[in-house]
This record gives sequence, structure tokens and C-alpha cells, in this order.
Amino acid sequence: MTNTIRTQVGILGAGPAGLLLAHLLGKAGIDSVVIDARSREDIEGTVKAGIVESPAAEVLAESGVSDRIYREGMKHDGVEFHFDGQAHRFDFQELVGKSVYLYPQHEVLKDLIAARIRDGVTPLFEHTATSVEDAESDKPRIVGTTAAGEPFEIVADVVVGADGSGSIARIPVVGSQQGGYYREYPFAWYGVLVEAPPSAPELIYSRSDEGFVLISTRDQHIQRMYFQCDPLTDPTTVSDAEIWDKLQAGVEGTTLKQGPIFRKDVLRFRSFVAHELRKGRVFLMGDAAHTVPPTGAKGMNLAFSDVLWLNQALRSFFATGSEELMVAYPENALKRIWKAQHFSYWMTTMLHITPDATDFDKLRGLGELALLTESLHAQRYLAESYTGWDYGVDDWR
Ligand SMILES: Cc1cc2nc3c(=O)[nH]c(=O)nc-3n(C[C@H](O)[C@H](O)[C@H](O)COP(=O)(O)OP(=O)(O)OC[C@H]3O[C@@H](n4cnc5c(N)ncnc54)[C@H](O)[C@@H]3O)c2cc1C
Repeated sequence: MTNTIRTQVGILGAGPAGLLLAHLLGKAGIDSVVIDARSREDIEGTVKAGIVESPAAEVLAESGVSDRIYREGMKHDGVEFHFDGQAHRFDFQELVGKSVYLYPQHEVLKDLIAARIRDGVTPLFEHTATSVEDAESDKPRIVGTTAAGEPFEIVADVVVGADGSGSIARIPVVGSQQGGYYREYPFAWYGVLVEAPPSAPELIYSRSDEGFVLISTRDQHIQRMYFQCDPLTDPTTVSDAEIWDKLQAGVEGTTLKQGPIFRKDVLRFRSFVAHELRKGRVFLMGDAAHTVPPTGAKGMNLAFSDVLWLNQALRSFFATGSEELMVAYPENALKRIWKAQHFSYWMTTMLHITPDATDFDKLRGLGELALLTESLHAQRYLAESYTGWDYGVDDWR
């Protein structure tokens, strides 16, 4: 027997995108059901993004999810770039009067899940979707199975695919899981999680002939660090000693605080934008709609922009029956998506050295970084983009 659940909006994926949309719709009195294949513990324990832009922090606090980000997050007013043996700091406050918050994605998710539970609509964890059906009808469905093997379907007026980069909701929208504009990069990040205090007060992005290094943080006890590697590197084959050598070589002048490494992974770099973000009553948002390489720290922040546009469209649809803003959703969301794609691509190509780089390429890259340190206009572009453009959507409060 299939368990059929009826709702106004069926949301596939309890990541930042799906949960935030459910919260905002709930504020407008619109019912939704969020499902996720993973358990609550798994979702709340997976370390992923770290940097939250000012406008995204504002949405979390002012929409009533939680203001914990302001109380417990680390406010960063700038970043350091290291290249050519020199360190350069870019002061976001001085440049554009904004900051970013180091507040790990799993803390954002804890806040979002707590808000759903507080509002009496706990997400359905351990519910795996196998397909999204009937996109072009007025009753699209999410079909799947629970961890206990019981079949279920969510029958909704609208279905939202917020199911991340391996999205199955893409299939009815673009015809396949891959259908999109796509770029793969010839390098990856070797990432570690380390039990140690922060090595620097702000993030350090470094480019040297050895490649790229990023010294980031998650909190006062856990640090996230990365160095550039071959995408085919097996993370288990690199020793701790080699890892510290690579990281330390990238940040001359800063002595890294070492500690036990408790996770090693290799993150491949991709840029992707789905060919379509909507088919009938099925919508894509967040990583299901687009992926950016992590250099610009844009993925989760960009997902929030999609959420605000879609929330506005769905509020209008359920209040008036008009599909006008639903039809406009792709065009509205894509403006920021392509800006973020450009910024992420720019940061990535400026700070990495491709394996086939010639001396010309390396010297041109240094010229680009030198320009950034000398031009106030270039620095303002960096600061404005990094701390986050205003979303330009107002009716989420
Ligand atoms: C190393 C790294 C660093 C990053 N740093 C930053 C950063 O600093 N700032 C930033 O903004 N972004 C960053 N990002 C990107 C950010 O983590 C993602 O963009 C963000 O998670 C996207 O949110 P989402 O809700 O769209 O998708 P996801 O977080 O991927 O959530 C999708 C959810 O859908 C569920 N799901 C998938 N398929 C199914 C199915 N068939 N059935 C049921 N459930 C399903 C998954 O279990 C998952 O919980 C980083 C990413 C990485 C990997």
C-alpha cells in the first residue's frame, strides 16, 4: 500500500534550499512537506560550507529562523591573499561596509530543522525519492520509498527539486540528470578537517607555483584547509606529513597550528547551470539548478537567492492563482546565478595554476593579482561579490 501525502508544495531535499523555502512558505500560511533520504543526525553532522554572506545571514535572522549566526558565528571583515611571497589583506568593511560570517552549513541546517519542528512540521527524514512525476499536470508527485521499504508519494500543487548536485528532479525538467551548461576544471581540492585552533584570524587564499592553498576555519576547535591536487588523487594515499608540507608551503610567514587530521577528501571542481529551471509545476533550485566551484564560497548563498525568488512566486500563485511570477522564476533567478558563476570562475582561475600552464600563463596570472592589489575598483568588485550582492527580493519577511 502506498502512503499518499497531500500538500500544497512538495519539497525534495532538506538541504539549506529546501528547508529555507519551507520556512518562508510556512510564514505565509502555505503548507509544504520536505523529504530527505538522509537521517536528521547525518544532515546535522555533515561538514560542508562555511561562509555565509551578509544578505544570507540577514534572511536567517530576520525571517525568524534564528539569530544564532550573529551570536555564535565568527564575523570576518576581510580576507588575505598570498602570492609572489607577499601577503595582501582586503578589508571588506573599508571597501563596501559589509562582512561575511563563518558559520558552518551544518549549524545553518540545525537552525532550519529546529525552526520546522518549532512550527510543527518536521521534515520526513529517511524518505528517498525515486522519481518526480506528472510535471505538466496540476498535481505533480514525488514518488519514493522510506528507509523501512514502504512506498510513498507526495501529491502537491507544486513540486520543488532541492535535491542537490545529483538531482533526480532534473529529469522531468531538463530531460536528464546532466542536461545543463557545464565546465570541468583540470584540478581539485584536497581538503582536510583538523582538530586545532584557528591558524589565522581571517581566511587565507594563496597562489604559488605549487598551486592553490586555502586556510579556512569552521569554529574555534575545527579547521578546514585545502590544497590544489590532481582530480584523480586517492585521498587515502597522502600522508599527514605530506599534507602539512603542502599546506605550510602555501602560506609562508604564517605558522599553521597543527592537530589531528580526522577527515581527508578530494573535491572535484565543476561549474553547472541546468538548461531549464522549470517544467510546468516542477521547479529546480540550489545545487539541483546550479553548481559552482567552492573558491568563491557562493553555493549555499546562491541557493538562498533562488529560494527568495521562488517563495515570492509561490506566495503570489497561492494568493491569487496567477502563474506570472512562477513563469518569471527562471529569468529572475538566472541573473544572480550567472553573476555568481562568473565570480566563482574568476576566483578559481585567478588563484589556481592549471597543470599545463606556460610561463606566460603564470606571469599573466601574477599580473592579474597585482592589478587587484593596486586598483581600488577591482578590490571593491572582490569585496562586493564576496560579501554578497543584495538579493533584490523584498517580500520574504
Ligand atoms: C567543500 C565545500 C565548501 C563549500 N563552501 C561553501 C561556502 O563557504 N559558502 C557557500 O555558500 N557554499 C559553499 N559550498 C556549497 C554548499 O555546500 C552547497 O551549495 C549547498 O549545500 C547547496 O544546498 P542545497 O540545499 O541546494 O543542496 P544540498 O545541501 O546538497 O541538499 C540536498 C539534499 O537533498 C537530499 N537528496 C538528494 N537526493 C535525494 C533523493 N533522491 N531523495 C531524497 N533526498 C534527496 C540530500 O540528502 C540533501 O540533504 C561548499 C561546498 C563544498 C563541497
